[in-house]
Amino acid sequence: MSKGTYAIALHGGAGTLLREQMSSEREAAYRTDLLAALSAGEKVLKAGGSALNAVIETVVVLEDSPLFNAGHGAVFTHEGRHELDASLMEGTYRKAGAVCAVKHIANPIRLCRKVMDSDFVMLNGEGAEEYARESGFEMISNRSFSTDFRREQLIQAQKAGRVQLDHSDNRDKYGTVGAVALDKNGRLAAATSTGGMTNKRYGRIGDSALIGSGTWADDRTCAISATGYGEFFIRNSVASRIASMMQYGGLSLERAAHIMIDEEVLESGGDGGIVAIDKEGNIIMPFNSQGMYRAWVKEGEPQYSAIFKTDALTDEVR
Ligand code: ASP
Repeated sequence: MSKGTYAIALHGGAGTLLREQMSSEREAAYRTDLLAALSAGEKVLKAGGSALNAVIETVVVLEDSPLFNAGHGAVFTHEGRHELDASLMEGTYRKAGAVCAVKHIANPIRLCRKVMDSDFVMLNGEGAEEYARESGFEMISNRSFSTDFRREQLIQAQKAGRVQLDHSDNRDKYGTVGAVALDKNGRLAAATSTGGMTNKRYGRIGDSALIGSGTWADDRTCAISATGYGEFFIRNSVASRIASMMQYGGLSLERAAHIMIDEEVLESGGDGGIVAIDKEGNIIMPFNSQGMYRAWVKEGEPQYSAIFKTDALTDEVR
């Protein structure tokens, strides 16, 4: 990679996103928040900060936005609550932190950062919150994550008796958030945060909390954050297998990602996509669904955002 060059990309979830089903106001609102999140990460990178801090700051903005399925705006569980999963990894020492099924942490990705400094990689539920309390995190009410939009999705899913929204549902299906970045010192990092699947139960945990499935970073290859039907991303170990194909098979990021997203995940019955960046700063954002909220910027270039598969590059310019 060329020393001194930074780049960052983010996603706000993949799913059945069709231009004709989205009002221009709603589209504008999404693009505003996507670019605000991108700017938060770019600010860190521009100032010479780490890729790790950049992806955290980007994800915090997306967690705080009610539009995405993470933090405020997270989907509801079967019981009408919110259980949040998140994970974070840096590529130099491959240190990682993850939390799952937390209910009272406004920004789970910040807790992941704290877990990264502990003796552990992944903490769950009450234990994670006990650690958060000891570390000085504020506990917030579970209700403060709720929005009317997500409540309606739960009602619809329960009416239809679905564990999660099915493939024919034409509303925002996933909405998990994530970011990948390369900093000026050649370091890579990835972060992912989610409320999981609408109407989930029995303590279901998705790929977003799992290092190797939803999140991966290794300075030797790439950084990846995934979104989609988590069970299939777990079964395919999507993120780390892309990196392995690059490291041991000599494949390009693009080729490896294509095999995983358009062949392995799709053929096993899953859908979704990833944002990914390699150590040279090449960004790719493949998805096999109708759309994926996404935004990206490279040093010295304009910021871009896109939503639909059909977005032409001209539509993507800020
Ligand atoms: N991958 C997430 C999960 O299965 C859902 C999403 O991407 O929105 O929990």
